[in-house]
Amino acid sequence: MIPEAAQCVKCGLCLAECPTYGLTGNEALSPRGRIALIQALDAGQLCPDRHGAEILDSCLLCRRCEAVCPSAVPFGSLMDRGRSMVRAKLPLGERLLSTLLSRPGLSRPLAGLGKLLPRAVPAGRLAAQASSAHWKPRTLYRPEGREAVGRVGLFTGCTGSLLDAEVLDAALVLLLQAGYEVAVPAGQGCCGALEAHAGNEGRARRLMEANREAFEGAGHLEAIVSIATGCGAHLHGQASLPVPHEDICEFLAREDVLARLRFRPSRVTVAVHLPCSLVNVLKAEQAVLRLLERVPDLRVREIGRRGVCCGAAGIAAILRPRQAQRLRQPLVEEIEAMQPDLVVSSNPSCRLHLADGDGSGAGYLHPLVLLAQQLIRE
Ligand code: SF4
Ligand code: SF4
Repeated sequence: MIPEAAQCVKCGLCLAECPTYGLTGNEALSPRGRIALIQALDAGQLCPDRHGAEILDSCLLCRRCEAVCPSAVPFGSLMDRGRSMVRAKLPLGERLLSTLLSRPGLSRPLAGLGKLLPRAVPAGRLAAQASSAHWKPRTLYRPEGREAVGRVGLFTGCTGSLLDAEVLDAALVLLLQAGYEVAVPAGQGCCGALEAHAGNEGRARRLMEANREAFEGAGHLEAIVSIATGCGAHLHGQASLPVPHEDICEFLAREDVLARLRFRPSRVTVAVHLPCSLVNVLKAEQAVLRLLERVPDLRVREIGRRGVCCGAAGIAAILRPRQAQRLRQPLVEEIEAMQPDLVVSSNPSCRLHLADGDGSGAGYLHPLVLLAQQLIRE
């Protein structure tokens, strides 16, 4: 028996919040239905087959159900366990893609090949966003001309330098200006989220172990911060890391850190997308809003229903484009009606997915990039 699954009292309070149940009205595609399936697989009442794998695989792992569950069922870890039971029946393409993307040495040549694909294919559009320049950090940065107030570890992840080099640069600038030393250990790598979600628990554990070793060698850290909320949701609460993980926005929004930063005014209108991983798992949405409030005159408008997935869900937009487009549509309509100058979102797959469907002409940024642009440097 899986004790976490037994915590589910089948009350159904999560159903109205579940995007896949909302799209289909099918109980099997609800949190409660998926938990019942995992229990049946675990008890040997059902054998793993393609149908069961499809039911578990179509879950977006948005963890909205976990956030609203009165019995505190840890749905994310339960779903990773369920997918490990049906791994052999998951689509080969998904298993391959999660393994290839989690190897930084392979993801760059893969992105190069992907650029040859037509832009009509989701993987081709994703590859088109990949930077061809390497982000090559030093292992330690120190604030100039002053005593450091502490040291943080910056988690770059497997795709950070490929898709998010400007966000990593912005994180460095803001942390250094706030007076922190920034360690970027060379031995770190993929967080393992994609592998865990593809049922490969063993490799996900090995990847986390490599990160533990890398950050343990980085000296005394106050926190390990990450820039992508999808990775952050997997790192969060990992007991094996030498110090707790925090989303970079949550760290920078701490009172004592914020007080050291000053920003120039900006009169642009910003639509703020708060990713489900930020709201449901990291619970750091207020931190993003507090940081944006620090820029005088900025017109900030939140979009979407808080905690509800936009459909991007890691690589789900590539694997299940129709489902992803249906979930994205209300957000795109909201953005197009608002006509903001910028849309900010702290997860790269959400930014790519939303920008892909949006005809408003708005620019898409991580909130940190906007903050770094407006920062008054000392
Ligand atoms: S997961 Fe939680 S909210 Fe959903 S049916 Fe089970 S106990 Fe109720
Ligand atoms: S994680 Fe999201 S998609 Fe999956 S069952 Fe829960 S609410 Fe539904």
